[in-house]
Amino acid sequence: MILLDDGCSDFAGEMGERTGIDFNRCLQCKTCANGCPFIDGMDQAPNRIIRMIQFGMAEEVLKTSTIWVCVGCNTCSSACPMAIDIPALMDGLRHAALERGIEIPEPDILNFHQEVLNTVKKYGRTHKLEIMMRYKLKKMDLFSDMGVGLKMLKKRKLDLTPSRVKDMKAIEKIFQEP
Ligand code: SF4
Ligand code: SF4
Repeated sequence: MILLDDGCSDFAGEMGERTGIDFNRCLQCKTCANGCPFIDGMDQAPNRIIRMIQFGMAEEVLKTSTIWVCVGCNTCSSACPMAIDIPALMDGLRHAALERGIEIPEPDILNFHQEVLNTVKKYGRTHKLEIMMRYKLKKMDLFSDMGVGLKMLKKRKLDLTPSRVKDMKAIEKIFQEP
């Protein structure tokens, strides 16, 4: 266990404040990395992200693909012996990367994420067809997954028109909150 003193890592302090995580608690047991279903797509394992934060390697951490590849599935945090909330950490790191204007190594993931949020903002729930159409349009790649899309339509897995929640005021409030 590394014990961080006050001057050891400002970045650990900043991320601790944002996420409520005490980085001293990580045992580097690697349980998180061993259970992560997306580890092969990451350039740094989750436990290494924590170690880098302990060492104050802000820029290096914020440039990793790991923070964008993590889908927040909670497999790691539910197995972590110290109950460290890694999905919350990844979320905080994504915000920090955007705020600092860091070049995103996985821009497609960010674009997809933004399109999901756009439909939630508009309808209060996701509309998969619109998400896919807008995402593909942004990529100028409308036809590569056409076959899958048609199959999903045929099996009624995609709604042609969006449905809207009744209480849109509550949704607006969520998006207004800082
Ligand atoms: S499972 Fe928890 S304690 Fe173990 S390395 Fe991962 S974050 Fe640290
Ligand atoms: S929450 Fe992220 S880091 Fe944790 S297991 Fe899931 S994908 Fe991996």
